[in-house]
Amino acid sequence: MLKKKDITSIQRRLLRWFGDHQRSLPWRQTADPYRIWVSEVMLQQTQVKTVLSYYEKFLNRFPDLKSLARADLQHVLKTWEGLGYYARARNLHRAAGIVLEAHAGNIPAVWEDLKQLPGVGDYIAAAVLSIAFDQPYAVVDGNVKRVLARLLRIDAPVNYQPFYPIFRDAADELLNTRRPGAHNQALMELGAVICKPRRPDCLQCPLQNHCLAFQEAEVGKYPQRKKSRPIPEFHIAVGVVLRDGRLLITQRSPNGLLGGLWEFPGGKARLKELPQTTCIREIKEETTLTVSIDFHLTQVKHAYTHFKIKMDVFCCSYVKGQIKLKGPVDYRWIRIGDLDTYPIPKANHKFIPLLKQRLGSAA
Ligand code: SF4
Repeated sequence: MLKKKDITSIQRRLLRWFGDHQRSLPWRQTADPYRIWVSEVMLQQTQVKTVLSYYEKFLNRFPDLKSLARADLQHVLKTWEGLGYYARARNLHRAAGIVLEAHAGNIPAVWEDLKQLPGVGDYIAAAVLSIAFDQPYAVVDGNVKRVLARLLRIDAPVNYQPFYPIFRDAADELLNTRRPGAHNQALMELGAVICKPRRPDCLQCPLQNHCLAFQEAEVGKYPQRKKSRPIPEFHIAVGVVLRDGRLLITQRSPNGLLGGLWEFPGGKARLKELPQTTCIREIKEETTLTVSIDFHLTQVKHAYTHFKIKMDVFCCSYVKGQIKLKGPVDYRWIRIGDLDTYPIPKANHKFIPLLKQRLGSAA
């Protein structure tokens, strides 16, 4: 439990430091709730340096809520391509439509209304309400939890959801209710540039005098983390099926991982199954087509948050059959040059340049 005078001192030091040292970021130059919302959705699971170029590109294409709400989802996903966690883009698009219809295009400034929108959890709601509308809601993200764990020597693991209320209560207690937006941004900024996961820069930290971990020389002990399970690796095989100079791509179902994106058909290998067998079997199961393998193009590796994949890519020829989809929701036979117009997962992008080189004018 912090004393009132300590809370006031922490708030003052934090804001002074933020005023002097904050990075100049485009979403800090605007009071437009739409732009702030977009930035917070992008920042939720992605680093600032990655978000910067996407933010600009996204807002050039969808400069206001109405343009996003009326856009085709495929264009939204294409603009988001490479940023990952595509549910964020789908939810943002759906939420923009709801705001346009149900709130006359104005992003709701009420916690309960905002939380009704797809993809708006506690973090996004608190960030938008505090930064865009100056309402007293504390944000709790990974940076904030780390700072709080060290500052207050909180033993609860930061990566274990049941302990989230401990960090939320601490953040609430510390919140500067007169300037909640600046306070929240300052705390997140401190976590990002000073109180970093490894080697925090305590000698430059404005909160050093209040930091319990620093005073007890226990900074290395915080934040505590619950041991996570090792990340599994799956073996995948996919086929680039060629028919009359065109390639087959299929669209993933709109929900779930990479929902709505287009890819080459294929799937997970069974135990001890050869990759080429997986490729032929998966294409048959997903499309009912019979194909034959022409050659092995390459193997690529890709890491998602909770698993990794090792993917063998084969170039195949169509043999027989009519497409009947099971799993994917749509398909296209396209020219290779048209690939760039579809939103495609990053793992597929890893071999597309080689595919273009190898197929050349064949497709
Ligand atoms: Fe983090 Fe060090 Fe500052 Fe404490 S003194 S909040 S550990 S940077």
